[in-house]
Amino acid sequence: MTSEVKKFDTLLVANRGEIACRVMRTARAMGLRTVAVYSDADANARHVREADEAVRLGPAAARESYLKVEAVIEAARRTGAGAIHPGYGFLSENGPFVEALEKAGITFVGPPASAIAAMGDKSAAKERMSHAGVPLVPGYHGDDQDDALLKSEADKIGYPVLLKASAGGGGKGMRVVESAAGFQAALDGCRRESQAAFGDQRMLIEKYLTQPRHVEVQVFCDSHGNGVYLFERDCSVQRRHQKVLEEAPAPGMSAELRREMGEAAVRAAREIGYVGAGTVEFLLDADGSFFFMEMNTRLQVEHPVTEMITGQDLVEWQLRVAMGERLPLAQDELTITGHSFEARLYAEDPEQDFLPATGRLDRFALDLVGAGLSSSGKGSNKVRLDSGVESGDVVSMHYDPMLAKLIVHGDDRDQALATLNRALAALDVQGVVTNRAFLQRLATHPAFKGCELDTRFIEKNEATLF
Ligand code: ADP
Repeated sequence: MTSEVKKFDTLLVANRGEIACRVMRTARAMGLRTVAVYSDADANARHVREADEAVRLGPAAARESYLKVEAVIEAARRTGAGAIHPGYGFLSENGPFVEALEKAGITFVGPPASAIAAMGDKSAAKERMSHAGVPLVPGYHGDDQDDALLKSEADKIGYPVLLKASAGGGGKGMRVVESAAGFQAALDGCRRESQAAFGDQRMLIEKYLTQPRHVEVQVFCDSHGNGVYLFERDCSVQRRHQKVLEEAPAPGMSAELRREMGEAAVRAAREIGYVGAGTVEFLLDADGSFFFMEMNTRLQVEHPVTEMITGQDLVEWQLRVAMGERLPLAQDELTITGHSFEARLYAEDPEQDFLPATGRLDRFALDLVGAGLSSSGKGSNKVRLDSGVESGDVVSMHYDPMLAKLIVHGDDRDQALATLNRALAALDVQGVVTNRAFLQRLATHPAFKGCELDTRFIEKNEATLF
């Protein structure tokens, strides 16, 4: 646990792109000095321009820069940064990094290393969650990995089942098995993949839900034992397990289901001694039953939709908790206002199987006034653009191709969706190919408007989306 808490006046942000800019925006507003870090490819990047100070980490490759633990810690030492915000990706869920910070006496804006470790292994995490009374997908997550035993467990669960690598992540080492006949071949394949990717062959088996929604709950805990949930997000619109459009609240949730899922998520966080912002991901079945999938022990890409409906700044919450303060609000002080969407703008070409695109952004602008929208207004026409780039910037092939996130808020879902479409149309991007037209097709799709959501939405509507 983070027992000793130190105040800090300088924050180093160990990330790049839109999330580095977004974290620094709140840090500045709180009167903190900001330090950026960068690789050679980012020497002139927006997050570097916006920071009070910037430190070079190394060459373009992430492994030699943004993922280099010693270089990041040295940068914090040199600039007198008392705390490090990891953003998402890179070092945000790296246990050894958090331990190194604990030793160096630098505050990590995130959970203790022990909580990251507890959620890092899927089998171990499921065991802990079952202990905490969090519902799990029916399945097997035991230590005995004998072929015949796994097969008989799969038979018991009933096909289709999903084989998952215990050590897995990013969709690797995961296969659907349609029937008993295909089990052994799938098991062999998954083990090979998992061994290659994670150096570990342990498998777990889950009932494969055929039409689930991905609904995740935002939780927050402080170091004084308080924990709350800031409601849920629906992230069912995914392409190859990558989220594309997110919204909050999740459509069609009863107040009772919202409370049940929220309370289960807080129990999950408490079970592992969680501190800070976390997300508990669930699969939600058509009949309203929900199952724990995993916990992300960091701030999520899609956190702004939660900020829009709750009126809270989650990065401010994170920084206050890291300073040892109590959570700003109690559960009964949190409410949902209106509806919010987020669309992820990627530098990629939907016409070429979403191949990442590079080049110079001749123009990157959002003409809100021309579209009758506003960035500060309340309610039906509020738009926020979280971006890591500006006109003139170069998009390289070294990092994640996400350029920006367009976030909107409306009084209700229909209004918010109309605003999203107007905002997408008002976005002017030239010089680099993006997925904007694809986002527009999604956001105007009758099935999306009609809330026909499940994790295979894009696959099912392929004919009308491409
Ligand atoms: P990873 O850590 O590799 O991303 P997850 O366990 O988070 O793997 O699952 C990734 C995605 O796979 C989920 O968002 C969901 O769409 C799908 N998925 C996972 N488990 C199941 C299941 N039991 N049934 C159906 N779909 C699932």
